[in-house]
Amino acid sequence: PPHSLTTLSAALEEVRVIPAYLPNGLALKEAVQKARIWLQEVEIFQSSNQHPPVETLVELVTRGHTIPVCLDPLPQLESLYADVESWKDCAAKTFLKKNSCCSLYEVLCPRSDICATGLKKKIKKSKECLQNGKGKVPKLESVATFNEARLKEMELFRSLQTANSIKLLSDAECMETKVCVCKKAATGSMLQCQLCKDWFHSSCVSTVNVHHGELPWLCPLCLRSEKPSFEQMLPLLSTLQKIPVRLSEGEALNYVFERAMNWQHRTKQLLSRDELRLARMTSQVAIQTCQGISKQMAATELEKRVAEGNLQVRLEL
Ligand SMILES: [Zn+2]
Ligand SMILES: [Zn+2]
Repeated sequence: PPHSLTTLSAALEEVRVIPAYLPNGLALKEAVQKARIWLQEVEIFQSSNQHPPVETLVELVTRGHTIPVCLDPLPQLESLYADVESWKDCAAKTFLKKNSCCSLYEVLCPRSDICATGLKKKIKKSKECLQNGKGKVPKLESVATFNEARLKEMELFRSLQTANSIKLLSDAECMETKVCVCKKAATGSMLQCQLCKDWFHSSCVSTVNVHHGELPWLCPLCLRSEKPSFEQMLPLLSTLQKIPVRLSEGEALNYVFERAMNWQHRTKQLLSRDELRLARMTSQVAIQTCQGISKQMAATELEKRVAEGNLQVRLEL
């Protein structure tokens, strides 16, 4: 087993008084120096007020293993790293579908892979590839960049919805327009995705959640992750708080959670406001058309919320 820094420093002192050139002495000196620098950096890492990024932890652990000196804080850092990994595993189990071609970070961040012609179909990446890099997903550094990405996502989805919802207006268009994952014409039993508004052949897509009727049906391109409930997310958030490093996946999860809470709050407000308004109008023997308009307004507003609500988290009202 490697020796402690104190023993080695003492040995180094002994080497210094020997008036001969010792190659081993030089290696010893280097190891002691590396160990001292490493220990200093660990101290900064552990005492910093702000949580350091996980990359610093990984670097310290890796470097610690290459230094042939017994480093007291190393096991502690290793166990912290193990905590990080097990948190990520847990989060991945909660959010990722089986054989998912997206990384955890990717599904937690607002989507950027949307264009007017449809959602980009992903080529399946290898597991290692997913674990090593964050793929092509740009790393979002602050709440402001998350907000920007969210607005962009909503805008892209809205134009996709507009493009898709006018696809099948006439019979002629039915024959020509390409729909579904198979990019063929619409025939037979078709399903419409509640988010992108494109049409899909029942035979091409899994209809598992259609029959349950609990959740709106989302096509395979829109439903790229599981949609855990708030209850399933809470343990992840509380474990995350106890991990004293900054994780990009953790930041993305916090953002998703806030976004979902905010969505739920605004939707509840909207519904209660509208209920009140409708109640008042009915009591005044209001003109029916008026009600119709109001309902429609609410429906349009709701539609917007629904699109957003369909994105990541299962929301209950
Ligand atoms: Zn098809
Ligand atoms: Zn869709």
